[in-house]
Amino acid sequence: MAPERRGRLRAGAGAPEAEARLRIAVPSKGRLREPAIELLHDAGLGPETPGDRALAFPCRNAPVEALLVRADDIPEYVQDGVVDCGITGLDIVRESAADVVELVRLGFGACSLEAAVPTESPARTLGDLAGARVATSFPRLARELMPGAIELVDVHGSVELAPRLGLADAIVDLVSSGSTLRTNGLRSVGRLLESEAVLIGPAQPREDAVQLGGVFRSVVDARGARYLMLNAPEVALEQICALVPGSRAPSVLPLAEPGMVAVHSVIPAADVWRLLPALEAAGASSILLVPLERMLA
Ligand code: AMP
Repeated sequence: MAPERRGRLRAGAGAPEAEARLRIAVPSKGRLREPAIELLHDAGLGPETPGDRALAFPCRNAPVEALLVRADDIPEYVQDGVVDCGITGLDIVRESAADVVELVRLGFGACSLEAAVPTESPARTLGDLAGARVATSFPRLARELMPGAIELVDVHGSVELAPRLGLADAIVDLVSSGSTLRTNGLRSVGRLLESEAVLIGPAQPREDAVQLGGVFRSVVDARGARYLMLNAPEVALEQICALVPGSRAPSVLPLAEPGMVAVHSVIPAADVWRLLPALEAAGASSILLVPLERMLA
């Protein structure tokens, strides 16, 4: 567990008005910063655009104050009540071992923690790395998730260079497309953890932090879905309904033209490319796809 921060007052402690505002930590730089601010925007909070050097920014439409903090520090800040909740990578949360709860997964910053070796290495599986020297900036996760005992080489930044420098036989690092591994003559031998950005709160989160998690979830779910509208001959209805995934009960509306109906349904965004030609082939016409803003179960 991350050591408790001592002698540190909650920002705004003693000021009742400041206390009422929900303080959310947002990564101050790196690849999670902009998507996190965009999420606040899409959730309708109306974040003021922070300048490059801003340390905090308010939201116009909600009693929420965003504090820009290093992504690595966010789990500890949340654990210690310096902020009420925070957005950071699941990998960072797990490595910190801070006493926090995951309120919602946010669908961006997807990557995985993987073990990799130089292309010419005989190692093929994670098990082959028993006893190997492993360079990583995730020592806790590497020790916890690698199957055998390993010798850890703690490095910060440019982990991929460690095998070439003779410092290690393998690395454990974050991978998204795999191109950085390939560029550095490395090959993955196994995945240890799937990660994405998450909203975290302290063990006993404030009610408004939990509510904010629900709002974020409705945005994240809506981003992964599309509203589909189409017209079709009534005789094609059965075939069209069978094609539309998850639409046990699509809305079917009669059209002014006899024998024609309109079908409305929510479909996964990832299925669109496959579905549209199939729907057309089944007789659908005037197909419209509309993005969704929120989805509540
Ligand atoms: P950064 O501040 O840009 O180093 O990124 C910090 C976080 O972004 C990581 O802890 C991950 O949660 C996430 N992330 C997503 N894709 C990657 C990637 N390919 N490499 C490193 N971090 C990634």
